Amino acid sequence: MRNTFPINKFRELRTPFYYYDTTLLRHTLGSIRQELARTPMFRVHYAVKANANPKLLAIIRESGLGADCVSGGEIRAAVQAGFPADRIVFAGVGKADWEIDLALDYGIACFNVESAAELKVINELATARNTTAKVALRINPNVGAHTHANIATGLSENKFGIAMQDMDEVIDLALSLPHVEFQGLHFHIGSQILDMGDFVALCNRVNELLARLEARRVWVHYLNVGGGLGVDYAHPNRQSMPDFGSYFDVYRTHLKLRSYQTVHFELGRSVVAQCGTLVSHVLYIKQGVNKKFLILDAGMTDLIRPALYQAYHKIENLTPADESSKEAYDVVGPVCESSDVFGKSVDLCKAQRGDLIAIRSAGAYGEVMASEYNCRTLPTGYITEELL
Ligand SMILES: *Cc1c(COP(=O)(O)O)cnc(C)c1O
Repeated sequence: MRNTFPINKFRELRTPFYYYDTTLLRHTLGSIRQELARTPMFRVHYAVKANANPKLLAIIRESGLGADCVSGGEIRAAVQAGFPADRIVFAGVGKADWEIDLALDYGIACFNVESAAELKVINELATARNTTAKVALRINPNVGAHTHANIATGLSENKFGIAMQDMDEVIDLALSLPHVEFQGLHFHIGSQILDMGDFVALCNRVNELLARLEARRVWVHYLNVGGGLGVDYAHPNRQSMPDFGSYFDVYRTHLKLRSYQTVHFELGRSVVAQCGTLVSHVLYIKQGVNKKFLILDAGMTDLIRPALYQAYHKIENLTPADESSKEAYDVVGPVCESSDVFGKSVDLCKAQRGDLIAIRSAGAYGEVMASEYNCRTLPTGYITEELL
């Protein structure tokens, strides 16, 4: 599967904008569905925070995945996109009362609870509504992930989840509260993980905790291992889809499952990253002291990942006058911040004012993180069907 771009349509649109290749998205969803068909106790919830564009949510919902939400706004977006409430789960270290109430009113499948204090509040709010909240406890497994420090979440030093040494106490609390129903455990160790060994380490930890609970005769029906599968930012054409087979095989091989358990996954980036491209125009080429700057009309307000996590995105000139002549540029945006840089010393086909530039693999944590800083306009997202 190769991303092909409707360049003549691109020329008519106001830049910068996001383009989503829905053929690739559907292919990716098909690949996930194939894996799920092989292992019926596996369920996937799409992590809405990776990209909440309603057009993409509709396609993802059609494919039968559930939704993993981290705010009341995301729950609303998921419901509006047609995700059934019983396939929506709600995580997050700081759930506000109104968000818990909203989730209770919709009757979502599960709250992934991150502290004893939150558990008590959920119980109170559920009591007031004369309902029962299904809960899983998010455990911080103290498993490191080989990824950028800002997107590792499974270490004791991170704010997420309940420490392992507190697990038994919080489970006992959950079992004692009348308006919460204990379902199981939740984990999420980080994002952009490409070393399958990190997921093996998570499985080993989960097995250890399950054995400990079984010895206490605590039954865990629901096991949520989070998301985090990475994508190949360097080779969006060669590796346009993550290797879902190897990923799910890790869990098939290493988790010691009981017949009554279901395993839930929360994939975000791996579903949507490769189908998205940020498209912009070259405004100026500026000769610096010892480098050339390619100044785009897209900036960090449209795609903040390079500024926020020093993330790499492949950059291409879609409309070079001469394919054979290359030049190195620092590719930058117009925003008044020195970190507004998409790439340094990037080899591109020689560019001129007006060329269309593609910033690849931008479907996850791109449009959804856009801001209006500098009073800029938010980018529009177009899908393939709109540009035929
Ligand atoms: C962000 C997040 C995910 C999705 O992570 P990806 O790396 O995009 O797959 C899943 N679960 C939770 C709880 C998250 O916070």
